[in-house]
Amino acid sequence: MPELPEVEALRDFLDDRLKGRSVERVTPVAVSVLKTYEPQPSALEGQVFTGVSRHGKFLDMEAGGLHLVVHLARAGWLRWRDSVPPGPPRPGKGPLALRLSLAGPEQGGDGGGFDLTEAGTRKRLAVYCVHDPSQVPGVARLGPDPLADGFTREVFAGLLRGERHRIKGLLRDQSVIAGVGNAYSDEILHAALLSPFKIAGELSEEEVTGLYEALRTTLREAVERSRGLAAGELKAEKKTGLRVHGRTGQPCPVCGDTVREVSFSDSSLQYCATCQTGGKPLADRRMSRLLK
Ligand SMILES: [Zn+2]
Repeated sequence: MPELPEVEALRDFLDDRLKGRSVERVTPVAVSVLKTYEPQPSALEGQVFTGVSRHGKFLDMEAGGLHLVVHLARAGWLRWRDSVPPGPPRPGKGPLALRLSLAGPEQGGDGGGFDLTEAGTRKRLAVYCVHDPSQVPGVARLGPDPLADGFTREVFAGLLRGERHRIKGLLRDQSVIAGVGNAYSDEILHAALLSPFKIAGELSEEEVTGLYEALRTTLREAVERSRGLAAGELKAEKKTGLRVHGRTGQPCPVCGDTVREVSFSDSSLQYCATCQTGGKPLADRRMSRLLK
């Protein structure tokens, strides 16, 4: 699932390619992809893109005062096309969910465009066509952006104060901090040498400072690594940059201990016991079930 760094790189990539270009056609292909009815995406046709911005993990492409807002979710992706096949795309079992084509140099067509695709059967990719991005419920709910200038250590400490949730869950909560998901929360906690199960409101002042620095540094470095990459290269780049997430059984690059995992019903987290939990493995439901 793309998180803040990948979505920021996609924003950069699209801003370069869309600004000043006009929309020829927007074609929703998958039944459930479009979450709004009015205005219709055809209202974008003929409008000129003025820029692309990001809200948490949402992309926001603005043209003619309208916003095409996209949440890629777990299995969604954007595929840039230098040339768009002629004729309407056929709805079917393929991954294509929505196609946007740009007007060509003489408005005669084939100025390229992009496809939004989604693999798998659980359809979560969401597209909204709105007058204002705050009309998208998921955008309206977002907490502050952790890379914004105003996101100081004090702002971060205020978000944690009194929180009874585990720090891993809190970092992933989009209404608390915008843009961090399962992968980067594992990475941030590993960099901060903190157990994912610590209670957020119980961190010491030093731990809050360490976590704040790990949050900003991890995301900023990931953004820097991803910037300038083509849309198609971002997923591979995300994978190679990760130190514990998705690396169960491999050695921790810091201390050499084996990266461990805790599994939940629909996700799992990875951590290093030596770096993060004083060498003590965390309880894992699946592991204890296997040992019964
Ligand atoms: Zn380690």
